[in-house]
Amino acid sequence: MGQRLIYHLCMPAPTQTLVLTFEETRSVVEHHAAHVAPGAEETLDLLNAAGRVLAEPIAADRDIPPFPRSTRDGYAVRTADLAKLPAKLKVIGEIKAGPLQLPSNLNQGETFSIMTGAPAPPGADAVVMVEYTSQQADSVEITRGVAPGENIVPKAAEAKRGSLLLNKGTRLNEADIALAASVGKSRLQVFIRPRVAVLTTGDEIVEVAAAPGPTQIRNSNTYSLAVQIQQAGGEPVLLPIAPDEPCRLRQLIEEGLQSDLLIMTGGVSMGRYDLVEQVLAGLQAEFFFTGAKIQPGRPVVFGRCGAGSPAREGASASAPASKYFFGLPGNPVSTMVTFELFARPMLEALAGMPPHPLTFLHARLKSEIHIKTGLTRFLPAILSGKYEASQAELVPWQGSGDVGARSRANCYIVIPPDREHILAGEWVAIMPH
Ligand code: AMP
Ligand code: MG
Repeated sequence: MGQRLIYHLCMPAPTQTLVLTFEETRSVVEHHAAHVAPGAEETLDLLNAAGRVLAEPIAADRDIPPFPRSTRDGYAVRTADLAKLPAKLKVIGEIKAGPLQLPSNLNQGETFSIMTGAPAPPGADAVVMVEYTSQQADSVEITRGVAPGENIVPKAAEAKRGSLLLNKGTRLNEADIALAASVGKSRLQVFIRPRVAVLTTGDEIVEVAAAPGPTQIRNSNTYSLAVQIQQAGGEPVLLPIAPDEPCRLRQLIEEGLQSDLLIMTGGVSMGRYDLVEQVLAGLQAEFFFTGAKIQPGRPVVFGRCGAGSPAREGASASAPASKYFFGLPGNPVSTMVTFELFARPMLEALAGMPPHPLTFLHARLKSEIHIKTGLTRFLPAILSGKYEASQAELVPWQGSGDVGARSRANCYIVIPPDREHILAGEWVAIMPH
């Protein structure tokens, strides 16, 4: 009774529903993501920068390679000397990787024994692999020819001094860190991680450590979201569980809007106590969509709170920047899917990454699928088999509340809304996770 009363006192009129196709919802998010600015920058040691987003462009500090580099152990030759095979050449020395000086010139009829990674001598235009040679004292017999340029990477072939190697906005993986190391960058300028508030709602939800009553459910969404936020380059800020009661819910939403992005779960369906949209409407939120024609995840909500300008842009003491929010459906698999499809691109943009399209892999379907048309489906599946014989198969599940099924899966099979019957052996789109 008391709860009903509060509901009537606090609630503005429910918002209009705006349900779009998957492609439409995704392009709405991409449009907004393209207009947000990343936050401040910090300087980190090379290793601590792994997984972070680069805030500066990185250029080659010298030619790469800095000298013509042998890619084999063998003999540096002038290919013209190998016109007739077998050929005999005079060995005038040995060049190992990292010699004190650059090697001297190679003249006609001569060769240097050379190691992988060593500088090729001026005059040499190829390296013959040691496997095709036999050396006796200072004479080597060569039994196979080589094409000009073979087994030598020319100076600056990989990058010229001053050329751009890593763009600002790159999420630094192991290859990027290696590249930065190779040009002497022991410290890197990166963007600070966006802070992403996580607010889970529902009277039935209790904390992990609590002993749940017979009708209560442990909070798992906060944890899956925190992991996904970290994987996407954000810093999760965990809020307490919000009850299905508008005044407390509003307090916690306002707290969540202090972060760079607010992600809520639960309370966005059509139930009488699904209050998230009404509370947001009371905060003068703008809604870009309130549903997507997808399964799982149909009731997903995307919008923005606060005055006009996009997050972080135009922030000032008098007019705080507006903040984006997502209301993700509470069913655990829906929460995970909708984070991946919609929240991730916005988070990545706030983290400083440029937009990139959602790409799917493809695999053959193992067992046929019958499904109703009208929704784009992202169904938990297992990709198995070896090499070219990889096959995908749906995981049996009890619907979008079945977190165990999602745990047993290793990907989603993506089914377009016009497909009703997909035969075994057909190619299907796969979204890995
Ligand atoms: P809702 O979107 O609020 O209607 O919730 C849909 C379903 O998801 C209900 O069965 C909830 O109990 C469940 N659910 C909501 N939030 C969570 C959560 N944080 N952890 C686990 N299950 C949840
Ligand atoms: Mg709920």
